[in-house]
Amino acid sequence: MKLNVLTLPGDGIGIEVTTEAVKVLKHIAGLYGHELSLNEGLLGGIAIHKTGNPFPDETRELALHADATLMGAVGLPEFDNAPPDKRPERGLLGIRKTLEVYANLRPVRSYKALLDSSPLKNHLADGVDMIIVRELTGGLYYGTPRGISGSGAEERAVNSMVYTRPEIERVTHMAFQLARKRRKKVTSVDKSNVLENSQLWRRVVTEVAREYPDVTLDHLLVDNCAMQLVLNPKRFDVVLTENLFGDILSDEGAVLAGSIGMLPSASIGSQRPSGAWVGLYEPVHGSAPDIAGQNKANPLGAIGSVAAMLEYSFGLMEEANAVNRAMEEVLNSGRVTADLKPAGAPATTAEVGDAICATLVRPVTA
Ligand code: NAD
Repeated sequence: MKLNVLTLPGDGIGIEVTTEAVKVLKHIAGLYGHELSLNEGLLGGIAIHKTGNPFPDETRELALHADATLMGAVGLPEFDNAPPDKRPERGLLGIRKTLEVYANLRPVRSYKALLDSSPLKNHLADGVDMIIVRELTGGLYYGTPRGISGSGAEERAVNSMVYTRPEIERVTHMAFQLARKRRKKVTSVDKSNVLENSQLWRRVVTEVAREYPDVTLDHLLVDNCAMQLVLNPKRFDVVLTENLFGDILSDEGAVLAGSIGMLPSASIGSQRPSGAWVGLYEPVHGSAPDIAGQNKANPLGAIGSVAAMLEYSFGLMEEANAVNRAMEEVLNSGRVTADLKPAGAPATTAEVGDAICATLVRPVTA
């Protein structure tokens, strides 16, 4: 298969973890005989330095022509007080919008080797395996009217939670199609006891669910969901929710994994004629200026994002599973970075990438 991939390492540890993710991607492509076409572009602070723009036109063109984009992270402290359109984070919003990636997928799973790093008791965290599907381009973050007006006692702020039926339908289909490949259960999260917006959400999700009779649907109010995520996280398979609720719940889910450096994410939009889903893949963490350039960053979130890319954009399940298994083996071996608090000396970022490649072997088929 031809894998047409754009990499955007970005800033800080984004560069270090992307180097390791690309190392793993090249290795697995070689192992399974895929043709890898790699381009690299500028995004974030480095793009501002080189072009004056956090999301240069050239990057935009490269992204529009790639099947999948692998991002590191953006953000540099020197831009903390810069105007909004000259901040690295503007690049992130720019690429998400350009690619129209409307579904953000965050797999959350516990690894046996990291159970003690989770704030939950081992018996609660052990065996957690869910995926949170967050609607990414609608709701409160984009709705209008919005803004702050007036002054003194008259000053007021408005944001609007807006969803259209097609926006809810497309992300719901995405969640049900994912569930079909997993344990066939979707939990839709809303606040329909209070918000009209959520009432429409619940009604449309229920209607779409009728097209997937093999998948079970249940509904949870968001406050109850926040509680269930820590009381009984194993009850969840696919969690489907709107933008704001998903933003909050996915960070809550993140603590189950033990370190922010572990978490991959995938944002998915339309399908190419080749069958590939246009996708933006990135670790959940930021550019971590406090450890940047020290070869200390955990690259497993970025490497997990490669596994997600192989699965969602290219449908290469065997290759994705091989990367996930290699990650598990390396975690069990204790060759991990300092954030995971290994018993011995911590491994460097590059050593973890090398260990994953050394562990990755193509299974011998009978
Ligand atoms: P951060 O995720 O960069 O760092 C938070 C803490 O976690 C830091 O102590 C850091 O050292 C640690 N950490 C993060 N990733 C790690 C890894 N892979 N291995 C080991 N430790 C890791 O969040 P922040 O400090 O709030 O933000 C720093 C910059 O990143 C800001 O400019 C912010 O805007 C940007 N940011 C970018 C993205 C993105 O590009 N998607 C996401 C979040 C934050």
